[in-house]
Amino acid sequence: MATQIDNTPAISIRDMVKRYAAPDGGEGKLALNGVSFDVPQGGIFGLLGPNGAGKSTIINILAGLVNKTSGSAEIWGFDIDSQRRNAKRAIGIVPQEIVFDPFFTPFEVLENQAGFYGVAKHLRRSEALLEAVRLADKRDAYARTLSGGMKRRLLIAKAMVHSPPILVLDEPTAGVDVELRKQLWDLVTELNNDGVTVVLTTHYLEEAEELCDRIAIINHGTCIANKPTRELVDMAREKIVAVTVGKDLSDAPAHEAFTKVVMSGQRGVEVTYDKDKLTAGQVLGILHEQGLVVEDVTTREADLEDVFLQLTKAANAEEAA
Ligand code: ADP
Ligand code: MG
Repeated sequence: MATQIDNTPAISIRDMVKRYAAPDGGEGKLALNGVSFDVPQGGIFGLLGPNGAGKSTIINILAGLVNKTSGSAEIWGFDIDSQRRNAKRAIGIVPQEIVFDPFFTPFEVLENQAGFYGVAKHLRRSEALLEAVRLADKRDAYARTLSGGMKRRLLIAKAMVHSPPILVLDEPTAGVDVELRKQLWDLVTELNNDGVTVVLTTHYLEEAEELCDRIAIINHGTCIANKPTRELVDMAREKIVAVTVGKDLSDAPAHEAFTKVVMSGQRGVEVTYDKDKLTAGQVLGILHEQGLVVEDVTTREADLEDVFLQLTKAANAEEAA
C-alpha cells in the first residue's frame, strides 16, 4: 500500500466548509470556513490551532465520520467522495476520544480491526504491532485493565492494522503526562522513520515545534499558515529583552519603539521589540537614557508561540474589519 505516488500530496484539502446543523434548526455552527492545504508525503505534519479551531472537524471529515458541507479532499490521490474505499484504505486515524470495548484483549482489538478492513489472516501483523507499541506483554489482558497511556498506544496500533501510508493522530498527547508524551513522540518518530506520513493535531505549540517538520495553523476554520516549522518560527519579528534594574520602579519604562513592556516585580522589566527596527543593545541604550541602571539581562528568541500570536492577531483583525 505504501507505494510512493510521485509528487502528489499525501493529503490535499480544497475549500472545505463545514456547518454543523443547529439542534433548533437555526443557523448552526460554521466550523470550517473554506480550508485548503496540502500535506506533503513523508514528513510529520502538524495541524496546530486553539480549541474549537476546527482541527477535529477536518480529521473527522477525512475519516468519513462527519459529512462536509462543501469542498473536496484527496487522500493518497483518492477523492474521499468518489473513491471512498481507496481513500479510506490509505489512512489510519487515531481519534481524540479513547473508545474500546472493555472486554476485548489488545490482540483481539487488532484482529477485529484487521477483519473489518478485510486483511487476510496470513497478512495480519497483530503481534508485530503490539511489539511496536510496547504492548506485547499485554496481548491477552482485558482492554479495560490497561492504563490511559497503554490504551492510546493500542489505538495507534489499531490505526495501523491495514498498513496505511498515512497515520493521523488527533490530539495524541492531550492530558497525558510528560513521560507518556515523550513515549508517544518516540513512537510517532519511529513510524515516520519507517516511511509513514504522520499528521497530528495539537494545541501545544511546543509539541508542534519539537515534533513536526511542517505546520499548518488553523484559526476559526481557516488555514492561516502552512510552512516548514523552521520558516514559520523565523517569521517571528519580535524579540524580548528581560532586564533587572537597580532601583524599584513605580511605572514601567515606556518608549515609542517598544512593542510591549511588562513588569515582573518591582525591578524586573520585559521589553518586547521588533527585531527589524531595534537591536537588544539599542533597547538597553533607551533604558539607560531613562536613568535606569541595568544589573542583569537575558534575551529570548521568538518562538512558535510568538508567531502564532502574531498570525492569529492579524487574522482576527482582518476578520473583524
Ligand atoms: P478543534 O478540534 O480544533 O478543537 P472542532 O473541530 O472540534 O475544533 O470544533 C470546531 C467548532 O465546531 C467548535 O466551535 C465546536 O464547538 C463545533 N463543533 C464540533 N463538533 C460539533 C457538533 N457535532 N455539532 C455542533 N458543533 C460542533
Ligand atoms: Mg479537537
